[in-house]
Amino acid sequence: MTLGSLAALIGSPVDHSLSPAIHRAGFEDAGVDWSYVAFDVAPGQAAEAVAAMRVLGIAGLSVTMPHKTDVAAAVDSLEPAARALHSVNTVSWDGAELVGSSTDGAGFVASLDEQGVDVAGARVAVIGAGGAARSVIDALGRAGAVEITVLNRTRERAESAATLASAASVGISSDISRADIVINATSIGMGVAPDAATEDDLPCAPALLRADQIIVDLVYHPLQTAWLGKATDLGARTIDGLGMLIHQAVLQQERWLGVRPDATVMRIAAEAELGSR
Ligand code: NAP
Repeated sequence: MTLGSLAALIGSPVDHSLSPAIHRAGFEDAGVDWSYVAFDVAPGQAAEAVAAMRVLGIAGLSVTMPHKTDVAAAVDSLEPAARALHSVNTVSWDGAELVGSSTDGAGFVASLDEQGVDVAGARVAVIGAGGAARSVIDALGRAGAVEITVLNRTRERAESAATLASAASVGISSDISRADIVINATSIGMGVAPDAATEDDLPCAPALLRADQIIVDLVYHPLQTAWLGKATDLGARTIDGLGMLIHQAVLQQERWLGVRPDATVMRIAAEAELGSR
């Protein structure tokens, strides 16, 4: 019997990750004999996991919390976004070298592009300054957003995130109303059913939003957050967070396989998995 190639997720915890469902659907659709498994790797052991790639011949790695920074230090080279963020969510081979990439931000931009939304020239308000926000701010800068205002509960983190793009600065709440695109990159609303949500479960007051804005939530559980519901009620266009998750995985498989997989089959698999929970 010959074994096909193996790709793996490392993180802790990994039990509820959608990545196995998404990647297996992509491999099946591409007609390749690849397997995908999830390893719960204890904090502090990311370098050993990367070393295991070399020893075991693992063909690709997805990396999630808490290992993204440690993996950036363990690979042989970094793509530009990973270097800027000191964070890696993807490891792939280039000959005998391991390359670290950060596909979250580019996946975010691709998910908007898929919806016909071009961030080039846009004024964008980003609420949040954690890992997801930092990826998005870096990618918005690379994609040509003209104004990126960063709002965050902890101001120092907003200031740090705003250094990632020359168009970025720390904003105030009125910047949300002025933006073309408003993004929730906090974890507010995660795991909260819209009908059970209170004001505390919204990343900003709905009164700050306008009907002609595009409102994007990076939270994808639930898919339709209370905040997106409020924006829809106002007549605004909304985009959920699953597109970013799918497109960062598309960009991972592209690095592993050399071809771009079908995003639609991956999204269908992710929605089926979410629906079964
Ligand atoms: P993180 O690094 O822990 O950052 C969390 C962010 O949320 C920080 O800005 C934090 O503010 C803010 N925050 C949390 N609770 C808050 C509260 N009660 N009030 C005000 N601000 C609050 O997390 P992350 O990795 O950036 O993830 C953020 C969200 O994005 C999560 O829901 C995650 O599931 C989602 N995400 C989605 C994708 C996707 O593909 N769609 C990818 C990555 C992450 P402080 O700095 O003040 O603590």
